[in-house]
Amino acid sequence: MTQSLPSLFVSHGAPTLPFEAASPARAFLAGLGRQLPRPLAILAVSAHWETARPTLSIAERPATVHDFHGFPRELYALRYPVPGAPALAERAAGLLRAAGLRAELDPGQGLDHGAWVPLLLAYPEADIPVVQLSVQPASDAAAHLALGRALAPLRDEGVLVLGSGGAVHNLGRIRYGGGPLPAWAQAFEDWLVGAVEAGDAAALAAWLDDAPEARVAQPSDEHFLPLLVALGAGGGAPGRVLHRGFEHGSLSMAAFAWG
Ligand code: ZN
Repeated sequence: MTQSLPSLFVSHGAPTLPFEAASPARAFLAGLGRQLPRPLAILAVSAHWETARPTLSIAERPATVHDFHGFPRELYALRYPVPGAPALAERAAGLLRAAGLRAELDPGQGLDHGAWVPLLLAYPEADIPVVQLSVQPASDAAAHLALGRALAPLRDEGVLVLGSGGAVHNLGRIRYGGGPLPAWAQAFEDWLVGAVEAGDAAALAAWLDDAPEARVAQPSDEHFLPLLVALGAGGGAPGRVLHRGFEHGSLSMAAFAWG
């Protein structure tokens, strides 16, 4: 009997997270796999893969993509040598098309750090196959909720739908040495936690209008969109806070589960 899985949203933080030994978010992610039934496969929705249409990676052996610049050399040596899951990519594309959505398959796409940083911590054995799904910054919140809703049946098929972005994500306001928590960051995270726990999908879909300081907390949409996919896949029930807190000054590392 296949166990049903929740859908999740995690904040992946800086690419250096695997080396940040004192990070509470790192400790949370490192224990995440043990909190959940073991998935048969993972569908990772990454803020760092932006496409015009929903696209799924269909590589047999997805490469570890180091899609960042100027970080320590040890970071570029990390690999997440996980198998892909072409059958899952086809299944997910079929669900999207059955819901009237477009879906494309990309055999050349590897795993970017939005996917492999949290998975390296949560499932270090790299033995659970992963498919990556893109976000579409030119599409709105409702489109990403619809994407998630179409993928919800996967949760009953042993697939972990994992959105990976940032709950508060303003790179221009990051303070790597730490620093006081700005009021705008706290206000946005408080609003987000409240809306998630209330199961208020309408408010979350209207986040740009409803949330305090939305454009300071998220100067662009892409790090918020994976949350909307996970929310949709969760079926509209109230969500649970798995982790919250700020690192590097104003970077919220909040994580949520639905279902
Ligand atoms: Zn990111």
